[in-house]
Amino acid sequence: MTRRTILNAGLPKRLNFGALELDAFAVSGLASYVLAPSLDACFDLGHCGVEASRLRHVFLSHTHQDHAGAVARHLSLRAMNGARPSRLYCPVESAPALVDLLHAWERLEGREPSDLSAVVHGLSAGDEVTLGRRFTVRCFEAVHRLASLAYTVVEHRRALRPEYRGMPGAEVHAAAMRGELVSDTVDHNLLTYVGDSTIETLRRHPEVGRSEVLFVEATHMLTTDRAASARWGHTHLDELVELWRAAPETLASRHVVLKHFSMKYTADEIARAHAALPAGLRERVTMLVGG
Ligand SMILES: [Zn+2]
Ligand SMILES: [Zn+2]
Repeated sequence: MTRRTILNAGLPKRLNFGALELDAFAVSGLASYVLAPSLDACFDLGHCGVEASRLRHVFLSHTHQDHAGAVARHLSLRAMNGARPSRLYCPVESAPALVDLLHAWERLEGREPSDLSAVVHGLSAGDEVTLGRRFTVRCFEAVHRLASLAYTVVEHRRALRPEYRGMPGAEVHAAAMRGELVSDTVDHNLLTYVGDSTIETLRRHPEVGRSEVLFVEATHMLTTDRAASARWGHTHLDELVELWRAAPETLASRHVVLKHFSMKYTADEIARAHAALPAGLRERVTMLVGG
């Protein structure tokens, strides 16, 4: 394999989904990360550039190196820049070893051990993390070879109550000043991020299709053996198409980002696989290749 054929432009791809702007990169076995500056968060951290270090909250789907290998860099870069300490979230089963790893790096650099209890946070399915007043991140279990979590970001939006809709702004304001309750909070599933996973995760969680943006893996495609793909804890593109036919609500998101393609596929092959997706799905799918 030559360098040219490896799908690693080395640069993330900028994705604009309405108000949500993301920088994303995911190549199987190399690195995965999705940066969401408006959330002050990123999802997975297989590589940590300066942009990633500016985001405080790091949600790790699991601790394979291509998803979690850059956490020590994140802590160091933030410390160097005087930023508040990182908050690393990972499956609770992986938290002790992650703490050990960070302590090992402190020893390698001749530093005193620090208290990491406020840095590493083990999470379980059903747990929630609030990001300011506007966002909550909910965890659910993903099926992979290691303990894995997927994350849904819920945005708490203010919406005018029906009786105030269409009313001039000044009147709504006056009503609010009189103490009337003019708006309600409406929860909106903004983004779901599923890291490495077999198709089973989506079968168990059809509600992911209610998220505006859905990241799911399609590590394998074309002639790669589906059973082998599943044994490695991954999803074959054909399985996603079958799932969409059988349970379209699961992939009903306005934007579906397919990612984490194996390095063995060329950009042309990935483009052809996209073109072969059925109408109704294809238009909503972005294939995540180098930016
Ligand atoms: Zn991976
Ligand atoms: Zn993995």
